[in-house]
Amino acid sequence: MIYFDNVSKIYRDGTPALEDITIAIQPKEFVSIVGHSGAGKTTLLKMLLAQERPTAGSVFFQDIDVHALAASAVHFYRRKMGMVFQDFRLIPNKTAYENIAFAMEAAGRPDDEIESDVPYILNLVDLGSKANHFPNQLSGGEQQRVAIGRAIINQPDVIIADEPTGNLDPINTYEVIEILKKINELGTTVLITTHNKGVVDAMGKRVITMDRGRVIRDDQQGHYIL
Ligand code: ADP
Repeated sequence: MIYFDNVSKIYRDGTPALEDITIAIQPKEFVSIVGHSGAGKTTLLKMLLAQERPTAGSVFFQDIDVHALAASAVHFYRRKMGMVFQDFRLIPNKTAYENIAFAMEAAGRPDDEIESDVPYILNLVDLGSKANHFPNQLSGGEQQRVAIGRAIINQPDVIIADEPTGNLDPINTYEVIEILKKINELGTTVLITTHNKGVVDAMGKRVITMDRGRVIRDDQQGHYIL
């Protein structure tokens, strides 16, 4: 479903970021990408999101050659993916409900769907009782769960989470990971980057370890070994 085919990336200033990466990720996999800062994890995600172009090689998503897409098609292509960020990126003056509903409005979904889907998703991320709370009335973990709700509300094929627990304490980290696992079990592919050894080791899922732009390990039931 996701295929990095001999992908290399050298940034315009000459910095090498990826060297000959070949990775295949199947539908419904849960994959953690780990590695030191500067290893190339974010660059890899940017390739998939069509935010950066490879210097060599190709990236495929389903049957789409990502970097052959016309500029006008990139916006629609990205709707196949739900993004989760370390810093949550919620709209501060909108409630949990409104933050999630806004993503549906932006995608042009009708009001009756919004009214039925948002409460369902709020329950899925265990925030049914906090629908009317603003981000500053929620813990970091709760904010991240709103962000996950927003990422899945338009039924993407894959959730891409860049250090989703980077700003969270261990209890909130655990809750966020449990939600990501639940979403994965319901059938969505999940791709996360993380530095968190505990998260990776508890997961028992595939771990791809990167170092200086290369994949140095790819374990089906991996541990964090750096
Ligand atoms: P990670 O996410 O694992 O920390 P990155 O993908 O952000 O790694 O970075 C990989 C390498 O590419 C690093 O050496 C980084 O400094 C460099 N890099 C990242 N973005 C840019 C950019 N826009 N221009 C030049 N170099 C970059």
